[in-house]
Amino acid sequence: MNTHRLQTIALIAFIAVLALGSTSCDFAPAAPEMAKVTTVPTADTDPNSYPAFAVGSDDPRRFQFEIALVDQGARELRSRILAQADRWARIVAGSDLENIDWEPGTVSCGGLTHDYRQDVLDDVLVMVSVQDFTDGGGLKTVICGYRESSKLPVIGAIVLDVDGLPQGQVDDFFLHAFGHMLGFGFSWRYRDLLRNPSSENLGADTHFPGDGAIAAFVAAGGAYYPGPKVPVENETAWGSVDIHWRESVFGEELMTSGLREGVADYLSAITIQSLADIGYTVDVEEADGYTLPGASSVASAIEGGPAIRIREEVVTSPAVFYERHGRVKRVVRD
Ligand SMILES: [Zn+2]
Repeated sequence: MNTHRLQTIALIAFIAVLALGSTSCDFAPAAPEMAKVTTVPTADTDPNSYPAFAVGSDDPRRFQFEIALVDQGARELRSRILAQADRWARIVAGSDLENIDWEPGTVSCGGLTHDYRQDVLDDVLVMVSVQDFTDGGGLKTVICGYRESSKLPVIGAIVLDVDGLPQGQVDDFFLHAFGHMLGFGFSWRYRDLLRNPSSENLGADTHFPGDGAIAAFVAAGGAYYPGPKVPVENETAWGSVDIHWRESVFGEELMTSGLREGVADYLSAITIQSLADIGYTVDVEEADGYTLPGASSVASAIEGGPAIRIREEVVTSPAVFYERHGRVKRVVRD
């Protein structure tokens, strides 16, 4: 056997070891800058148990998501899901939300369930399911539990139907969905930051009057916007009203009800400042550079394809409000 052949065999063996050593089913590696992911203990003896992951800081005084991947579809996309959650966790890392005492047991939200084995909820438990129905894809976002003190979420669920979605779009959908898990859109009404809701009067000039978001909207080119700021979606053609920025004004921003095909939408300082307005401590340095369409010649150049509707089902009811000791203070139904 000559040297060259030996080298070839050694190389094949090396590749085989690498392949066998990798047990991950992920489609893409974790984002290199991901701050911290730890596995949350689950019931080892339960054959139906599945992993949950903490994303964010393990310092209890800083922000953390706990993410339960409730089915195989979600587990296959693990690193991509956790990377999108991590982006938001870094934005609100300085936030010290009230911990909620919890009786360990089954938690249900949006048709998903998780066997939660800890005695405190810190800070937001999100159950994630990835399904592949054959009706053209879509997203369902649900907030089931809020803190009574701050009106910020404590339990939520994301169901993504990936049918027909381009691979590149999946990350954008999850990034959008985790924004809601912080209360974007959902907590506005409970923090008295939703004016003229369109759900009560379709087509009203719905807006979000938070000081930080208004200042960021002006800075992004909205100084001469003629209506009340910051404009919120009021047309059902674009999906759920009252819970997103207005697509016709914001265009390629991430938290509108439409996403641009083929490019990542912008996570703007307006969105980040709106999180400060509802009670988070934020790092605005994490914002993407973004200018309102029409505000400058650069911004008016559409980089991606046409906007596609997210086809999002937003479930806001029933909303259960918990006190610090885990008692239900009230239940709000639409
Ligand atoms: Zn949405």
